[in-house]
Amino acid sequence: GFQPASRIASIGVSTILQIGARANAMKREGLPVIILGAGEPDFDTPDNVKEAAKAAIDRGETKYTALDGSPELKKAIAGKFLRENGIDYAVDEITVAAGAKQILFNAFMASLNPGDEVIIPTPYWTSYSDIVEICGGVPVLIPCDAAAGFRLKADQLEKAITPKTRWLLLNSPSNPSGAAYSQADYLPLIEVMLRHPHVWLMVDDMYEHIVYDGFRFTTPVAIEPRLKSRALTVNGVSKAYAMTGWRIGYAGGPKALIKAMAVIQSQATSCPCSVSQAAAIAALNGPQDFLRERTASFQKRRDLVVGRLNAIEGLDCLVPEGAFYTFSGCAGVLGTTTPSGKTIATDADFCAYLLDEAHVAVVPGSAFGLSPYFRISYATSETDLVEALDRIERACAALR
Ligand code: PLP
Repeated sequence: GFQPASRIASIGVSTILQIGARANAMKREGLPVIILGAGEPDFDTPDNVKEAAKAAIDRGETKYTALDGSPELKKAIAGKFLRENGIDYAVDEITVAAGAKQILFNAFMASLNPGDEVIIPTPYWTSYSDIVEICGGVPVLIPCDAAAGFRLKADQLEKAITPKTRWLLLNSPSNPSGAAYSQADYLPLIEVMLRHPHVWLMVDDMYEHIVYDGFRFTTPVAIEPRLKSRALTVNGVSKAYAMTGWRIGYAGGPKALIKAMAVIQSQATSCPCSVSQAAAIAALNGPQDFLRERTASFQKRRDLVVGRLNAIEGLDCLVPEGAFYTFSGCAGVLGTTTPSGKTIATDADFCAYLLDEAHVAVVPGSAFGLSPYFRISYATSETDLVEALDRIERACAALR
């Protein structure tokens, strides 16, 4: 039979995808399942972006492009970094790939030697640790719980750094916690980074535009230019512009790293999709005002979900600064028994109970490296959210 390569021996199919598959199978059987697991906006791609893609097809932009992004798109990205983040990346300090996920993959593939360590605060986006492992690295997971605001602290970072540390990987606003780092949160971490010049910094700013209550987004290289020579600032169009299916992510970083990443990409995908690149140019250069409207709509739903969760005995949810997830504590329901006599010992048990009995699909904290919590994606209709929260409330009330 088939024997998988050792590099993927410890890596299974993502829990999130497994739960999604089960929930969809239940739906096909006719059960009224509400899925709060998806990591994508429920909005449509803006019309100006779609039109730009159609025009690109009609112009014949249907061939291979430059390896790591067309010059026009790189120019648009450089413009974005300067305009929105105050970072001056030259065009040869920018790379484009089929999603931020491929950016991360290219970067780790291009930089990690076997045994190199990558510091990742938990809870983390599941792909981080899996990509690091596939690339031969060792994820060093640092728990950052609700009491810490789901943010890494300087002393934790200091303690985690070893001679083998290659990268610190940060994500703000975070999937799954929604926590974001303010300038004041970043400063002590930056100080530690400056004391350890062998450590590089990768920041995933994917949810930059989805922040609430006037939170001021910032990114480490904008705060401390001395980090620019050993930082990769990762971003993309998937979440802000509702373009998950177009598969365009990008990053700014030192030329040598960008070149090494292109070597990986050249043997993986040759270039990002030409039509999607034209669309991404329109997204970055086009009108941005719809972002505010969409964020206001997300904020309304965030307030609804957080309010309802905190009214349920046993659950405890911090108010997230951004993204479209809540990461609620569920310590208060552990040790209880379901009406059918099952014990809830873990957050995974709790999520299985919610799916089986309440027909609501959410993802356990264990999938993100921190328990006991569960993630709700509220990028779905208010009607579905209200119904799902009614069901979660009833399901929790039925626990003994
Ligand atoms: N980074 C974070 C934190 C994410 O949550 C996601 C998607 O879920 C990505 C990156 C990947 O985005 P892309 O669609 O650009 O690959």
